[in-house]
Amino acid sequence: MLVENLVQLKDLTFKSFISEEKINARVIELANQLNNDYVEKSPVFLPILNGSFMFAADLIKHVSVNCQVSFVKISSYAGTQSTGQLKTLIGHEESLFNQDVIVIEDIVDTGLTLELILSDLKARGAKSVETISLLRKQKARDKDVAVKYVGFELDEQFVVGYGLDYDGLGRNLSAIYEQSMH
Ligand code: 5GP
Repeated sequence: MLVENLVQLKDLTFKSFISEEKINARVIELANQLNNDYVEKSPVFLPILNGSFMFAADLIKHVSVNCQVSFVKISSYAGTQSTGQLKTLIGHEESLFNQDVIVIEDIVDTGLTLELILSDLKARGAKSVETISLLRKQKARDKDVAVKYVGFELDEQFVVGYGLDYDGLGRNLSAIYEQSMH
């Protein structure tokens, strides 16, 4: 339910954080950066489901170099706290040997999910692997997790919308909302 910039999802209330206009403008900037960096290449995008589906779709629409898209699924979250337990990686059956791979993440928090994906991709013989994440939290900056392209930097707050969920809800919102304490 969306009332005057507040969103109620189950027991939690969220307030406006990043507008749809800001997201769209940043997505175009990021796509332009990729178009410059991959000008002579034909990268394979690996969006991490479910959270990155909206970001990936919007971003890839503005990518002008020839590219492939193959979705990967992994989950490490239950509710608003990381369980620290990574489930298995599924998808990308195609060979990534000698390919320039670009992992698309919704948000990097502890970086555990990304570490698992990156070590898996290295084992598959990718020529290069870079990551683009719509959002990055403080912990990832503290740990120096390698994310080459970042949309927006956050502190520690829990966010929903634009693909990100709270207990399965909120992915449909076209802007990003942060948890409100009242
Ligand atoms: P990490 O492994 O980096 O700790 O966690 C990354 C994953 O946790 C993200 O892909 C996302 O699914 C989930 N996550 C981390 N922070 C948030 C958040 O603020 N909101 C939502 N909805 N999910 C988050």
